Amino acid sequence: MTRRHRSVACNNCSVSLSPVGDYAVVFPPAGSGGSGRQEGNSKAAVPRRGRRRIETKEEPTPRASRPASLVTHGDLEPYIQRIAYGDTSPVLTGKPITSISLSSGTTQGKPKFVPFNDELLQSTMQIYCTSFAFRNREYPIGNGKALQFIYSSKRVTTKGGLTARTATSNVFQSEQFKHTMKDIQSQCCSPDEVIFGPDFQQSLYCHLLCGLIFSDEVQTISSTFAHSIVHAFGTFEHVWEELCADIREGVLSSRITVPSIRAAVSKLLRPNPSLADSIHNVCVRLSNWYGVIPELWPNAKYVYGIMTGSMEPYLKKLRHYAGSLPLMSADYGSSEGWIGANVNPSLPPELATFAVLPNIGYFEFIPLEKSEVQDLEKSASTIHYIEAEPIGLTEVEVGKEPVSIQVGRHREGSRLPSTPEIQFVCRRSLVLSINIDKNTEKDLQLAVEAAALLAEEKVEVVDFTSHADTSTEPGHYVIYWELSCDATEEVLRACCNCLDLSFVDAGYVGSRKVGAIGPLELRVVRRGTFQTILHHYLGLGAAVSQFKTPRFVGLSNSTVLQILCRNVTGCTFSTAYGP
Ligand code: AMP
Repeated sequence: MTRRHRSVACNNCSVSLSPVGDYAVVFPPAGSGGSGRQEGNSKAAVPRRGRRRIETKEEPTPRASRPASLVTHGDLEPYIQRIAYGDTSPVLTGKPITSISLSSGTTQGKPKFVPFNDELLQSTMQIYCTSFAFRNREYPIGNGKALQFIYSSKRVTTKGGLTARTATSNVFQSEQFKHTMKDIQSQCCSPDEVIFGPDFQQSLYCHLLCGLIFSDEVQTISSTFAHSIVHAFGTFEHVWEELCADIREGVLSSRITVPSIRAAVSKLLRPNPSLADSIHNVCVRLSNWYGVIPELWPNAKYVYGIMTGSMEPYLKKLRHYAGSLPLMSADYGSSEGWIGANVNPSLPPELATFAVLPNIGYFEFIPLEKSEVQDLEKSASTIHYIEAEPIGLTEVEVGKEPVSIQVGRHREGSRLPSTPEIQFVCRRSLVLSINIDKNTEKDLQLAVEAAALLAEEKVEVVDFTSHADTSTEPGHYVIYWELSCDATEEVLRACCNCLDLSFVDAGYVGSRKVGAIGPLELRVVRRGTFQTILHHYLGLGAAVSQFKTPRFVGLSNSTVLQILCRNVTGCTFSTAYGP
């Protein structure tokens, strides 16, 4: 069943419902599984609950359940057209539209245009403060700064004269963002010129430099999505000597050529040989950069960013850089609006749940009912589901089937006795499929995790994606791996077989057994290939801050497919189901 936008109207609010495109599970009650805290933490665990009461300052109206009688199924296209042509009146939203947010486009192939207004800005600040309060209860931070790897996207203007950029850019450029960051003791070390710079590589270098200049003051290390932190420290491994030289001499590297960035960062730079020496000593002493973050930022209390969903594959590397510091997974949102806050921040990111904040949006959930033939052992992501009729927030049942989420915004909030906690499963539209098989990005992630365990100790899967190759008869899955260093053919053969066997979806296994799907192919790509893919998306107007590696590359995404193909250094076919 395909669902398009639906519009909902009621006497004091009007909202547009948009499918977020994710699957989630409503979390089962306390005591039903899930471990406690992260290693290295000594305080008592925060109990996990299926539903939780969240106190907010506002006293919104009791309107959380679905206003069923008021639901109208309408086509929003005419309204979206009006917005694109500059009509900013509050037709779909409670407050006038101030700009357009562009979604990352890494989920559906191309960016979506989503209205942005002050109401969304306010709810963003609210969720920042709410989750900060929960984090701060566990790990209080002192007055200081945050090393934030945040970047703005390019700005474009719509036909009607509205500014369009990524949702995070809309947030970063607002005055409220700065005030809120100050309130929650998380002011960015870098000046605005770095965040809004036109060249991402130069901004990244300067974020690192500013973070080092203020190293004693830094309380947290963060980014919107964890990928940016891993990427930043991958870069640090190559540029640390240059950074030391800049700090020693007090002169900015010639690699920074954007005048505004040069001027702003040069103002912060003074010759500081003792800081340069101490950074140098740390870097030469570290073993393969393990624990670089707490070594260089001794007052940092935690590392913060979205670490769930498509960010999970980067956790291993992030833990390596973070050493003893806890990782705190950030909130759950989308360009359309915020969905939930991580109110159990001390849980490891793999177990993070999000309390839906009923007063920041109107939510509908599409229950996913199991189809007739089911293997009860399978995970939420591998079972094939039928989408039922949407239900409201108060109708969601804890511990029942997974749900798909639709979010809308409304002017008046809702007050609930309790709110459900949900766990992110995967993005809905991303499916690897040749015929009757169906594997989600979560299935792919689990397969890659299992296979990567077979690689030698030093060999890490830096990044990965996949393609359903139907140019051969029968078609077959192709998995692309970028590795940290070379692996032997024998190891790659074992990994390839393991990948093939890890896709346990009945459609896939059955098709493989009868030869309706050919042997899985593991293609290793050159180092830096996924950087090239990132740059390709940046060229299209995406921002690093919202980037998620596409885990499936279809034929329609020909540029990314070409990047992958021209960088292949070797391939192996599975023999798991026979030669
Ligand atoms: P965008 O397309 O740029 O609006 O990004 C929104 C998408 O990012 C969501 O639909 C999710 O797929 C993903 N996302 C956002 N927050 C989280 C989170 N906390 N955990 C997992 N995925 C997330």
